[in-house]
Amino acid sequence: MEQRHLSVSQVKTYLLCPLKYFYRYVQRLPAPKSPELALGTAVHSALEVNFAQKVQSREDLPIGQVTDAFSDAWKTQVPETAFDQEEKPGQIKDEGVRIVGHYHSTVSPAIQPQRVEEKFELAFENAPYTFVGRIDLVDSGGLIIDHKTTKRAPTPEQVRQDFQLTAYSLAHRLTQGQPEAGLRLDVMVRTKTPKVLHLPAVRAPRDHVRFLKLLGHVAKGIQSDLFYPNPNFTCPSCPYRKQCDAWQDV
Ligand code: SF4
Repeated sequence: MEQRHLSVSQVKTYLLCPLKYFYRYVQRLPAPKSPELALGTAVHSALEVNFAQKVQSREDLPIGQVTDAFSDAWKTQVPETAFDQEEKPGQIKDEGVRIVGHYHSTVSPAIQPQRVEEKFELAFENAPYTFVGRIDLVDSGGLIIDHKTTKRAPTPEQVRQDFQLTAYSLAHRLTQGQPEAGLRLDVMVRTKTPKVLHLPAVRAPRDHVRFLKLLGHVAKGIQSDLFYPNPNFTCPSCPYRKQCDAWQDV
């Protein structure tokens, strides 16, 4: 198995389409980001700038500093992103400024972070890989918060099945030796007027066991070079369509 680390994104990519995983993580073929991902990354960076300093200062930064942090992060995203006719970089940037400003003024004041962007790497007996990631934020009461920017609010079933939250919960329990106080998805929905949804979630030990079992199966598939196309709803925007079309001829 060439890949010695597995992350939630890798697991999700493999489950969506093993061939896409192969092009991205084994062959490491360059792929431009989607505007949605670029926006989410820049929003994430801006919130991190505020929360990382708030652990000590216990004060939010002035809003201008946070929107500036967003603009700086957005600048680094633009060259790596494939925009289409409908999504202009300037419009998305303005949207991001509104989203960050809204979250900062309505939600951030109520959050006192204890740990921000905490990395974890979990090793398992007899497993040839480690599981890596970073938890967005744990507040002073032990609540884990994950930030997402999206066009559509996730359904309750999507929240229930979300691997990211399961992974955070598992990592927290294994590294801190105690269950988290709670899990919450803060979803910034890309509506005309920015909207934030707070979606609580619960993970029980059986969810962790199920996730670990799934991780083991994905690792086995990768180790066995099981890389095949699985046509799905993301194919129209897949950066590897050309390679995928020629897959059977190689
Ligand atoms: S085009 Fe579809 S089937 Fe082919 S690699 Fe991409 S996601 Fe997989």
